[in-house]
Amino acid sequence: MIAPVTCPIRSSSLPPAIALVKKFPSEASPTSAIRPDYLSPSSVKSYLSCSLRFFFERVAQIRKPTTVALHVGKAIHATLQSFNLARWRGEDSSEAIMEKAFSSHFLELEKAEGPVDYADEETRQKVRSCAWNTVKVYMDSGEVSSQIPLGVEVGLSATIPGLPVPVRGVIDLVQHDLTAVDYKSSAAKPDTGHAAFDHALQLVTYQIMIEEATRDTPPSLDLVYLVKTKTPQVIRVKIPPADKQRKQRVADLYKIAYEGITSERFHPQPGMQCSWCQYRKVCSGWCKG
Ligand code: SF4
Repeated sequence: MIAPVTCPIRSSSLPPAIALVKKFPSEASPTSAIRPDYLSPSSVKSYLSCSLRFFFERVAQIRKPTTVALHVGKAIHATLQSFNLARWRGEDSSEAIMEKAFSSHFLELEKAEGPVDYADEETRQKVRSCAWNTVKVYMDSGEVSSQIPLGVEVGLSATIPGLPVPVRGVIDLVQHDLTAVDYKSSAAKPDTGHAAFDHALQLVTYQIMIEEATRDTPPSLDLVYLVKTKTPQVIRVKIPPADKQRKQRVADLYKIAYEGITSERFHPQPGMQCSWCQYRKVCSGWCKG
C-alpha cells in the first residue's frame, strides 16, 4: 500500500482549472507572458480541442452561466465522492444519508456556480429527481466493489521528460487493486468502442501518475458511466493500461499544449465543439492580432 494513494484529497485541493495559467510580469520572459505552474489532463484537452475557447475560459476568464448538464454532472460527482469517502472512512453510506448529501451538493453548487440555466422550477425538480435516481442506481449496482477503496479523489502529480512543469490530476477513485476509476455522467448510452480513444489523455495520465507514485501499473483504467435515461443505467468500460507508445503519445500532447500556451497560440478551431461552445459570439469577433 502506497501512502500517496491512501490519502483522500478533495478535488478542491487543486486550484480551479483557470488558475492553471498565471500571468507573469512581461519582463519575466521576452517572448511570453503566460507560464502555467502545472498542466492537468482537462486543461490540455481543452487547449487541444480549441485553443481560443481555452483562452476565453482560462486566460481571459470570461464567466458564462452554468449549463444544466454541468450543474447536474457536478452534483452527481460530488455525491459519489461523499459516498466513496464514507465507505473509505467506515462511516454511514446508506441511501438516506446520501440523499441528504445529494440535496446539499445540488443546492450548494447552484449557489456557488449559478445561475443555472433551468427553464422553470418544474424542469429543475424533474432534472433533480432524475439525477438522484441515477446515483441510487449506481449505489445499488454491482459496480460498487465490496472492498474498501484504496483512495478517493486522489491528487497526484507526475513528471514528463522534456516538459518544464509537472502534470497534476485528481483521480475520482482508486480501487483496492490500483484500478483507476473516472465517473462520467451522460444523457445517453456511451459508445463504449470510442470511450478509450476519447478519454485516452485523461486515463493514461492517471496511469503515469499512479506508476510514478507506486512504481506499479494499474491493471485497468475504468470509466464508469452513469446514464441519466428514464431508467438510469450504469456502464463500466474497462480499458487496458497503456503501452510505451500510447504513453509517449500522451507525453507529446502535453509538450505540444505547453508550447502552444506559452507561445500564446490561441486561434479558433471550428468543429463539432462549436455547437455547444458558449463563446461563439465573442469568437466571431476574433481576428489575428
Ligand atoms: S465557437 Fe468554436 S472556434 Fe470559436 S471558440 Fe468556440 S469552439 Fe472555438
